[in-house]
Amino acid sequence: MDYELAIIGAGPAGYSAAIYAGRSGIKAVVFDTMGGGGLAMISPNIENYAGFASISGMELMEKMGAHAKKYADMHYMEEVQKITKTPDGFTVTTSQKNYTVKAIILCMGTEYRRLNVPGEQEFQGKGVSYCATCDGHFFKGKKVAVVGGGNTAVIEAIYLKQVGAKEVFLIHRRDRLRAEKAYEEEAKEKQVTFHFNTHVASIKGDQQVNALDIEDTQTKKQSILEVDGVFISIGEEPQNRLAKELKVRLDDRGYIVVDRQQRTNVHGVYAAGDITDGLRQVVTACAEGAIAALASTEVLGKKYPY
Ligand code: NAP
Repeated sequence: MDYELAIIGAGPAGYSAAIYAGRSGIKAVVFDTMGGGGLAMISPNIENYAGFASISGMELMEKMGAHAKKYADMHYMEEVQKITKTPDGFTVTTSQKNYTVKAIILCMGTEYRRLNVPGEQEFQGKGVSYCATCDGHFFKGKKVAVVGGGNTAVIEAIYLKQVGAKEVFLIHRRDRLRAEKAYEEEAKEKQVTFHFNTHVASIKGDQQVNALDIEDTQTKKQSILEVDGVFISIGEEPQNRLAKELKVRLDDRGYIVVDRQQRTNVHGVYAAGDITDGLRQVVTACAEGAIAALASTEVLGKKYPY
């Protein structure tokens, strides 16, 4: 065996799994298609991770990455292309080579959900963005819209005001937000303009985005909202391709079903973090990663005093 445990995905769940695995004497490797950190990396501000009253996602994830590095081999920019079940465990085929392992923890998280309206693809990178932390500074002094009503959308709207956008519109399809009350209050304080019961029909522009066609979902009245950019924050979809190929059981939204020890239905395969059917928070991802790593001792012939 090259490693006892392969952890796929270096977000909060993967990093915590690596820390707990290493400290339990498990020889573990972590693969990530990018540089690590996952979606939490681009959260402008995390204010509900105990011990950090307010910290940027990037800073928190860099701290976790540096910590995890002490306990596992980190293989960044190495995409896992396939996982094959073998009599002894699994073969993990990456963009670089094959690795034999005995157990797997799937921590691939989620990817951005698309709005799927005309103009979205055409203007991606030309005013259409999925990440205010990455692109917000381009909109200093400009008018921008954020689409969505969850925590991410509201935090991004606040952040865009903070980086100096002239006007920020929050466009949400329902009459109330899904986001936590504290974020809603802050957005109101920062004078974000809310458009409830509003649907984005299309994104318009020339070289760059210059307007949105919006529609009131109740009156069906259509109007044009002039903006220089639009941030689409309408949630995420699980990155479940590898799980599907391994015949891991998914729920009806495509998230991995796990038990209290983070076991999937496939022996030796565990899952943790946003890819599972639990609460999607950094703190729960970390806890699930820890539980999965310790639970994997059961297939590694190691003991852990639960
Ligand atoms: P989310 O909570 O799933 O919210 C997605 C929002 O987008 C919802 O308001 C939804 O509307 C809307 N939406 C979905 N599909 C749409 C479509 N096709 N067209 C228009 N609107 C659409 O997603 P999120 O805000 O990205 O958060 C993901 C998870 O991470 C959540 O569990 C969230 O609590 C967590 N998170 C936590 C924090 C934090 O605690 N600091 C920060 C960021 C994210 P409806 O409301 O009508 O369904």
